Amino acid sequence: MQVEAKGAISLLKELRALTADENGAQRLAWSPTWLKARAWFQSKLNELPIEHHYDAAGNSWTTLAGESERALILGSHLDSVPNGGWLDGCLGVIAAFAVLRCISGQYNGKPPITIRLVDWADEEGARFGRSLFGSSAFAGTHSIEQDRGRTDSGSKRLEEALAECGVSIDSIGDAGCERKNAAAYLELHIEQGPVLEAMGLPLGAVLGTKGVERHAVTFHGQEAHSGSTPMKARRDALAAAAKLALEIRPIATRHPDAVCTIGSLKTFPGIATAVVGRCEATLDQRDLDAVVLAAMYREAREMSAQFAKEEGCTVEWSRIWNIAPVPFHPELIELCEEAIRETAGRSHRMPSGPLHDAAEVSRAGIPTAMMFVQSLKGISHNRIEDTSEGDLELAIPAFDRLAAKTMDWIRAS
Ligand SMILES: [Zn+2]
Repeated sequence: MQVEAKGAISLLKELRALTADENGAQRLAWSPTWLKARAWFQSKLNELPIEHHYDAAGNSWTTLAGESERALILGSHLDSVPNGGWLDGCLGVIAAFAVLRCISGQYNGKPPITIRLVDWADEEGARFGRSLFGSSAFAGTHSIEQDRGRTDSGSKRLEEALAECGVSIDSIGDAGCERKNAAAYLELHIEQGPVLEAMGLPLGAVLGTKGVERHAVTFHGQEAHSGSTPMKARRDALAAAAKLALEIRPIATRHPDAVCTIGSLKTFPGIATAVVGRCEATLDQRDLDAVVLAAMYREAREMSAQFAKEEGCTVEWSRIWNIAPVPFHPELIELCEEAIRETAGRSHRMPSGPLHDAAEVSRAGIPTAMMFVQSLKGISHNRIEDTSEGDLELAIPAFDRLAAKTMDWIRAS
């Protein structure tokens, strides 16, 4: 029995027609369009011998009961950023649906182990700034007190938006009961970056999600008149920040997959006629290896102190946010590579820079793997996000193979 890749692609187009406008996908979590996407998805489950419910955090669970209660979970997210692409998240949900339907047909509605499909609630965090909402509640890493007061751009509270969708913020931790019998988790996602395209490969096996160190770095110098202050007498905070902005390149490129970004730089007083007295930068550093990440952080700090000294300035650091790297399960990564090689010939192992729900599932101690399919031009979170249909037609059967291999792996373990 073959998974219906073309049918899955038609469903993705149907969902796009239903939930996108001329600016792209509008399935913002906790919005009417998102609820419409979920109702549409539920309507597709009708003819299957499944149980469906929403858990306490709003995650959507579809269960095909097997002879064993041990469960293989397949999933991703239907929510999108505003003006998003047609594949981010929903590819994984629809591919999981195609695989579940194929397994149901193959085993006459009763596979040897239980197969579950999850559509995580609010992966993107685009509206309230809280990414991985549903999967963190599932994993028990949620943060109710921090999240309760969050508001969207229209000053609506997260708590209220949840309540309108039938979710009580105080109960979201109850979603943890869905971890029962979970034996493995698999997710297919678009790469959202340019690596596979540059290598000419359709598919890659994901090693894990990179850890992140995100800091505010502020240089203090001396505001002074731009006309009267000789070059040698200046304490220019921007000059020190600019040196750091260039230095993070060698700090990152000493490691194969590391990235460092200064994404924001503010100068004060920020006028044409004054030397910059204060410069506020943000530094975001990522790598899959915690040792590398710690080394890059240390090097950036040391170099910032040196540059501050060279420019007659001082520097202070404060942490904005950090998360440890989350490596996926080595045996499942191996199965993922096998499935890719058998479907597409060649595979590539790569870390994920973006975070994914799979990281939360893995943090909960459930063996996890992810498969990436090439993104054209490496673009995502944009209406021009795309993947060739030829690659989608490889990705879905490859994911199906990975599911079959993982079912065998669960039965053997
Ligand atoms: Zn996504």
